[in-house]
Amino acid sequence: MELIHLENVKKDYVIGEVKVPALKGINLSINAGRFISFVGPSGSGKTTLLNLIGCLDKPTEGKVFVTGVEVNKMDRKISAKFRGDHIGFIFQNFNLIPVLTVYENIEYPLIMVQNIPLEKRKQKINDLLAKVGMTQQRNKYPAQLSGGQKQRVAVARALVTEPKLVLADEPTANLDHDTAYKVIGLMHEMKKEFNTTFIFATHDSKIVGEAEVLYTMEDGLIIKVQENKRNGEAN
Ligand code: ADP
Ligand code: MG
Repeated sequence: MELIHLENVKKDYVIGEVKVPALKGINLSINAGRFISFVGPSGSGKTTLLNLIGCLDKPTEGKVFVTGVEVNKMDRKISAKFRGDHIGFIFQNFNLIPVLTVYENIEYPLIMVQNIPLEKRKQKINDLLAKVGMTQQRNKYPAQLSGGQKQRVAVARALVTEPKLVLADEPTANLDHDTAYKVIGLMHEMKKEFNTTFIFATHDSKIVGEAEVLYTMEDGLIIKVQENKRNGEAN
């Protein structure tokens, strides 16, 4: 099933008199249940592209479909609801809430976005804590965790609403190399476990080994698409 479809997507940022063309015509289709990476140097347009797919911003030109819905036509309120229902986000800086425990951070989207009853919440959170290997740290606060542990919590938080799609922008940029590999590995495991589509962006070509499909970006365009047969699955 096609989850994401982009047609001739262009994005210009305008600062005063200056127009910065960040995306210059992107066409792509991504099927459900895939593990995808966008890789390319800083400034190549990865974040801009992820923001459009994540319904956080609108293209200047072209069409963006997510789950078959043309998201570029949505107003702010509807796209916020759409994100809450379908998309999980993982950030470079983890973005955990410092005054909430590990457990409460994972619980947060279930209360704020989906209003799931208590018993069901507990079950989901405990299940995810176990899957990301953070059960023992459940009552700790973000400041008491290592970077890798924080990102594990962020992965659990992104998955707790059972989104169809998880977007991770430079999720390993603040992690050392070993930890970066482990976090990407965890995301790949979670993708298999939940059949959630994961898309991550990175400027570090060394950590893309797990990706099933690799899109290389340069100067606002996709210049190369590589299928990694070792990791790829028929679909
Ligand atoms: P990447 O994530 O690959 O580093 P970005 O999508 O952040 O690339 O940036 C692509 C281009 O758009 C760059 O030239 C960047 O300077 C520019 N850009 C990104 N965000 C903005 C913004 N909010 N305003 C103006 N220019 C921007
Ligand atoms: Mg970026």
